Amino acid sequence: MSKMVLIRDPRFKKHQTPDAHPESPSRLSSIDNVIAKWALAQRVNEVLPRKATFTDIARVHKESYVEELKDKAERASRDNSLIKLDLDTYMGSESFEIAQLAAGAGLAAVDAVTDDPSNTHCAFVAVRPPGHHALVDAPMGFCLFNNVALAARYAQKERGYQRVFIIDWDVHHGNGTQWAFYDDPSVFFTSFQQYPFWPFDSGWYLEDGQGEGRGYNMNIPLPKGTGDRGYLKAFDALVRPILLEFNPDLILVSAGYDAHQEDPLGSQRISTPGYAMLSQRVKDLADELEVPAVVFLEGGYNVKTLADSAVATMRVLNAQDEAECGAVHASYLMPMSAANSNHVTGDQDEVQVDERIEEIRRHFKRYWRSLR
Ligand SMILES: [Zn+2]
Repeated sequence: MSKMVLIRDPRFKKHQTPDAHPESPSRLSSIDNVIAKWALAQRVNEVLPRKATFTDIARVHKESYVEELKDKAERASRDNSLIKLDLDTYMGSESFEIAQLAAGAGLAAVDAVTDDPSNTHCAFVAVRPPGHHALVDAPMGFCLFNNVALAARYAQKERGYQRVFIIDWDVHHGNGTQWAFYDDPSVFFTSFQQYPFWPFDSGWYLEDGQGEGRGYNMNIPLPKGTGDRGYLKAFDALVRPILLEFNPDLILVSAGYDAHQEDPLGSQRISTPGYAMLSQRVKDLADELEVPAVVFLEGGYNVKTLADSAVATMRVLNAQDEAECGAVHASYLMPMSAANSNHVTGDQDEVQVDERIEEIRRHFKRYWRSLR
């Protein structure tokens, strides 16, 4: 096994949001603290991000949108103010450049897993602002540029990848990513979300792609209260078989940690060990197909459970052999612990979750033989 590539940078804390906004710089400080707690920095391969260029960003976003955002950053700088872009998305004077850096971090991660002679297969990109709600021509839901979509396009256009599989386990629907690839069969997008939930106009499983992209967009809308059991079952029943059949040469993950049972925005019940198990499934698939996996930080607003869970993903991706994998999982599963985030969780309504998974399987088996 090779070391995981980790991309983080103190500059990501300079993207400004108002006081008490959930998407705060302290999210990254908390992750830094937990990385230190596990002495992880010494064991991974840390790589510096670079700024995505206009050309890089224009692979997904409209140039007029990029210009508009740049103008707004200049206004923020002139007025020394925060600019409100929509109901809950803000930017400060440095946010444009930091968003370029967040997008570029994904490109640097693709380069690192592609070029590393030691055959590095996994990377974690700990950035903000997050990206998966950002639309081709508009910011949305704390996101300015769609980091994961930009990495997918860069991988295809500049690094020779053909088929990219994107898994989004943020509690919210990855609408920006869905629409970016909706008619494109070279990028399979699957998104787990609490449903119904924000954004209210997307995320149902009948949104399955259009034109040649039909069948290449799979939403997994899960009822409120879905826990580790439901998420892992949906992963095994739907995501794993289709991923193997699609046979990607690159796996990308939009890893939000706001489906954690202690997150203030979501109502799902994933535990910290549950996130370790989901991460293990991604790593196993990447190993099985011998393809790289790049994991992007999206949401997660309880700074403690966010950091514990994101670092659980990193520790799983960086585990060098089966013994270390086992030790990592064991370190989160403490049955005698008082902390309830250390128990694998069930669903509020198991029957409803199982019915939903079956409904989705029945719909997608027309496209994917592996679901029949
Ligand atoms: Zn989210």
